[in-house]
Amino acid sequence: MLRTILRSVYRRLQPQPAAAARSEPSPIPSVPLHMDRLFSLQGRVALISGASSGIGLHIAGVFAQAGAAVALAARRKEQVVGAAQALAARGHAATAVYLDVTDAQTIGPAFDAAEHAFGAPVDLLFNNAGILYASPFVDQDPAEVARLFDTNLKGAFLVAREAARRMARLQHGAIINVASTAGLRAGPRLASYGAAKAGLIHLSGVMALELAREGIRVNTLCPGSIDTDMHRVFRDFGFEQALLRRIPQRRIGSVDDLDGAALLLASDAGRYITGAVIAVDGGQALSWM
Ligand code: NDP
Repeated sequence: MLRTILRSVYRRLQPQPAAAARSEPSPIPSVPLHMDRLFSLQGRVALISGASSGIGLHIAGVFAQAGAAVALAARRKEQVVGAAQALAARGHAATAVYLDVTDAQTIGPAFDAAEHAFGAPVDLLFNNAGILYASPFVDQDPAEVARLFDTNLKGAFLVAREAARRMARLQHGAIINVASTAGLRAGPRLASYGAAKAGLIHLSGVMALELAREGIRVNTLCPGSIDTDMHRVFRDFGFEQALLRRIPQRRIGSVDDLDGAALLLASDAGRYITGAVIAVDGGQALSWM
């Protein structure tokens, strides 16, 4: 007995190179990184609001390529039907749903239609529908301001709330609210547009706080100047050169500049990211000249 104890003590006192090596942190992750799996949306059901043109239409294609079933939602039904058919022809699961974010009666049915089409609930929302009116503050028309707030803030709120209620039942989900650099810093002619987007950024933060324990991540994507129909307003005003001077990278972005950030926030690669505000703007939000 005594001999056994002494032998065990002796063994413990011997140098143990293997144990010493184990305590060194390895620079190589124990589980190999599979980049395509990390950013995959396989098995996910995404609803993209404002998917009839511009950023929403493009991101619907990106999410579909990453493996999600996508519901393209907007008021212009022919556009979303055409886009969904084009995606389906390439082998993706895609459907078109009618949605007017200013009409609360259309929001629940849009989610129902997406769920019905794919036989699974929406667990990814790209909350992107928006409009822009740009004019000097003193000239802003109250009717236009009301429409802008109804769409860009109240509409975004109503769609996000519907998504959150449904995702809470699943205890998982991701919501990406599309705001703007105009919500991060003041820009001429963008008083009410910027105020609505600033409101959406704040709303996202509160949603992230309240929904984290329901397994729902909420993040905000702030595009800078992206070449879409909406952006062409600035060209029409002759503002594009002035705008370019405020963008450190000195170029207008294209819709595919948003792919990386959108996929990060949507996929498991972003599983520990919630409440983040990510500007994709060539540095515009930093620049004041
Ligand atoms: P587009 O004008 O190309 O797209 C806007 C989309 O919003 C359309 O699909 C439109 O669809 C939809 N939409 C507008 N009103 C409603 C509504 N009441 N209900 C449902 N859908 C609606 O512009 P972008 O792609 O550029 O804009 C997309 C988002 O990105 C917006 O929120 C915008 O504020 C934001 N953004 C854009 C920037 C840019 O430089 N382009 C910069 C920063 C932010 P339909 O008319 O068919 O309903």
